[in-house]
Amino acid sequence: MANEKTVFQKIIDGEIPSERIYEDNLAIVIKDINPKAPTHVLIIPKTGQIPKLSDATIEHQALLGHLLLIAGKISRQLGVDEAFRLIINNGAEAGQTVFHLHLHLLAKKSFDEHTIGDDLGHQ
Ligand code: AMP
Repeated sequence: MANEKTVFQKIIDGEIPSERIYEDNLAIVIKDINPKAPTHVLIIPKTGQIPKLSDATIEHQALLGHLLLIAGKISRQLGVDEAFRLIINNGAEAGQTVFHLHLHLLAKKSFDEHTIGDDLGHQ
């Protein structure tokens, strides 16, 4: 039996709405529904074959690089390219709730080295 679709797969397939700010053949970028910063977007590959980063293999190398390039491009588009934070939660104990790889891009809040674990997760 096929696995239940994740919320991100439903968004990619157009089954539930989202605020899509970028799309190409490999990925979409949407606004997070529960933002943790004034700018909080999610960079999501269209393939659902990578539930979490640690499941990625060498065959995903180009895709993973592409996702980082999108982060840079979107940061410029949003005018936050001088200060943003990228986060990937890997595994439930690290705060991952949707098991379809995604990168959080957060900006327009104050960052310092002591807050690195505070942006996302269970606290
Ligand atoms: P994570 O906890 O790293 O798996 O992140 C999942 C993120 O997806 C959370 O920040 C949620 O707020 C976000 N999210 C869940 N459902 C939606 C949705 N329908 N549209 C946009 N963002 C969502």
